Amino acid sequence: MLKPGEFIRDLLGSDAGRTVVARGWVKTRRDSKGVHFVQIGDGSCFRDLQVVLPSETFDEAALTEVTTGACLEVEGELVASPHAAQRVELRAHAVRVLGAADPTSYPLQKKGHSFEFLREIGHLRPRSNTFGAVFRVRNALSFAIHRFFQERGFLYVNTPIITASDCEGAGAMFGVSTLDPEKPPRTSQGAIDFAQDFFGKRAFLTVSGQLEGEAFALAFSNVYTFGPTFRAENSNTPRHLAEFWMVEPEMAFCDLEGDMRLAEDFLKFIIQAVLDQCWDDIEFFNQRIDNTVLATLEHVATSAFEHVTYTEAVRLLEQSGKTWEFPVHWGVDLQSEHERYLTEEKFKRPVIVTDYPKEIKAFYMRANDDGKTVRAMDVLAPRIGEIIGGSQREERIDLLRAQLRAHNLPEAAYDWYLDLRKYGSAPHAGFGLGLERMLMYITGMKNIRDVIPFARTPGSAEF
Ligand code: ATP
Ligand code: MN
Repeated sequence: MLKPGEFIRDLLGSDAGRTVVARGWVKTRRDSKGVHFVQIGDGSCFRDLQVVLPSETFDEAALTEVTTGACLEVEGELVASPHAAQRVELRAHAVRVLGAADPTSYPLQKKGHSFEFLREIGHLRPRSNTFGAVFRVRNALSFAIHRFFQERGFLYVNTPIITASDCEGAGAMFGVSTLDPEKPPRTSQGAIDFAQDFFGKRAFLTVSGQLEGEAFALAFSNVYTFGPTFRAENSNTPRHLAEFWMVEPEMAFCDLEGDMRLAEDFLKFIIQAVLDQCWDDIEFFNQRIDNTVLATLEHVATSAFEHVTYTEAVRLLEQSGKTWEFPVHWGVDLQSEHERYLTEEKFKRPVIVTDYPKEIKAFYMRANDDGKTVRAMDVLAPRIGEIIGGSQREERIDLLRAQLRAHNLPEAAYDWYLDLRKYGSAPHAGFGLGLERMLMYITGMKNIRDVIPFARTPGSAEF
């Protein structure tokens, strides 16, 4: 029978003098004369609980299985700790090993492991200090995202994960098929006959919930999606995953100004929420991962974002006197090096770039009167570059049709999307935030594989 226990977070906040039950995994064990010290953690907070085991109660034989990685249940008394770092420690009366961990093979030892090595033990790395902190912050961030939208009356909508339309009109997608890859049915022309596939046509994993989100915004006014998205882009970078989570609000009766205001309020709110809820974890990131984390977060939470048009941004980049790996001139998409220059060197704060050339943006973005640019906005953050991409959507059916043609997209595939402009169209806008990019920004972690529980990247889908 398991005894009722308490979380270490709550025990560490309690006063001394109570008899309690704690459970957790051994981080370290230290033996000195007459007493053994064992640190246990249960993931509930950054800190571990120090368990003190007097040798008079616990002889060597009773503690052979108390080794790093073992899972323990400890009953004892909370006593005032002599160490300044913690208020209380647990003086054990009884210890039960719920699960031993063979010390000759347990891979997660006290010594600092590289993140590369920890990725190989993705099933055990959540027990390490760094990944404990990462996933507590991820949890707090996800909850803050829901709270932000729910407090503002946005409807949470679950858009499909399997889709037959490619939202961006380009972009590499994962196919979803039940056809036998060894001998798929063929048309008379010899092509694979997807009419015989599960959905009667080609299907894919979604790259974005936006188009379906728009259908809901034109019924519920303000909505958001928050779910997994998939990109089969074979870009092995520290910023790209094949499976990642995206937040996509969509608002009816909203233009690009409203969209930018929401994006800025949103980023400030979620950053502040994480600072409030995960202070110990953020302090750890600041001390051990990147010593600019705390200052940038507090800066972003309190300072106004810079606004600049794409045209102006290109002029600034051309005048910077820098040599770029990707040369810059009006018409090219901004690369990470350009984005980082703007936010890190030029403005030293988050920057919203607006009104991009229509050729480099998606077909659904609203055309400006200049005939050259669209009402797009990208929010760029120091250290990361693009963190949010959004736009006011084209609500005028003729212009949307023209954009589909200009992007070489078949109108027939977008008939339902065009219907939204045919029946009760309204000005509307929205954006997408990649959850993992945001987490990298908040934690200072340098590789996106280290802010998702189990990363899916080209050549790798372990665990
Ligand atoms: P990038 O130029 O960095 O590849 P993108 O222009 O393809 O980004 P969008 O299509 O605008 O990105 O997607 C919206 C958001 O989703 C981005 O701002 C980013 O935060 C995130 N994102 C995009 N691709 C990935 C990916 N492969 N892995 C993780 N997050 C991503
Ligand atoms: Mn991309």
